[in-house]
Amino acid sequence: MSQFILIIILLLPIIVELKEHWSYENITIWSHDNRYCGGNLQSPIDLRFNKSHIDRRLKAMYLQKQNSHDSLQLINNGHTAQLNLKNHFVLKNVAPASEDYRVEQIHFHWGHANDDVNGSEHLLEGRSYPLEMHMVTYSSWFSNIHEAMSNTRALAVVGVFFELSFESNPFLQPIINALGRIRDNGKHVVINENFNLKALIGEKRMRRYYRYDGSLTTPPCYESVIWSVLQEPLQLSSEQLQAFQRLHGEKSVLMKNTYRTIQSIGSRKLFRSFTSENIHDDEIKKQISSSTSYGQYLSVNMKFLFVLMNLLMLIA
Ligand SMILES: [Zn+2]
Repeated sequence: MSQFILIIILLLPIIVELKEHWSYENITIWSHDNRYCGGNLQSPIDLRFNKSHIDRRLKAMYLQKQNSHDSLQLINNGHTAQLNLKNHFVLKNVAPASEDYRVEQIHFHWGHANDDVNGSEHLLEGRSYPLEMHMVTYSSWFSNIHEAMSNTRALAVVGVFFELSFESNPFLQPIINALGRIRDNGKHVVINENFNLKALIGEKRMRRYYRYDGSLTTPPCYESVIWSVLQEPLQLSSEQLQAFQRLHGEKSVLMKNTYRTIQSIGSRKLFRSFTSENIHDDEIKKQISSSTSYGQYLSVNMKFLFVLMNLLMLIA
């Protein structure tokens, strides 16, 4: 018996390591070791305007700066580039009369070199973006993110898409400049340049977002996240995007396609804080109106068919 216990104790670090080991190359087996990854409230999802409901209680969210002099640390954790922002901001107006959510970190998801299309986790009208930023926050009812992580609606994550532009985004540049110094797994660096998260996202953008209940998009996939995905993307240049694509993950392998495939929305409801008038992307506007008119066309046809069937039955 004592020998058996000894073997278990000796094997424990290996068992724990195996459980914590996951990669984007084996997404389909995440649920084998992490039961939540196979749940019904998983993220990301495809965000469709015509399948969402307006919720007028969803107010403009905003970031409130805290008095922190902690340095900003950017780390390569083997899966992404993550900027730790502990004690720097709180996120307000997550829900009506809700508590504050403390910003813990931001991190990114992207595709790979020579792919300017894929990279984002969420999709907008079936369309992906080359980069998606996640701002991870936790409810101030909890003393830290680890305590909050597995509790219902204890996390609030804001997703922001990036689209390619000819000009580089100056607000993102302090992170881009530091990426070259964290090329390898486990590296970290302090950002000394002035990084302004509020200016990067922009106040107006925080008014228009999709909202749904979902999960962490990496193991252990806890279903504890209030998701807000901003409708309007930010911009970055292809040189800036390439800086992410050059990072190395575990075993010095290039970090690529760091996004989870979309999950079924199931019986969940998707809400939004905006109307179609607030959409400025003409392509998306066109797509939404064409699928609306198709829906209307279909419902008119169904009504006609119903009347016709009734008439036929009367005649018979
Ligand atoms: Zn993420």
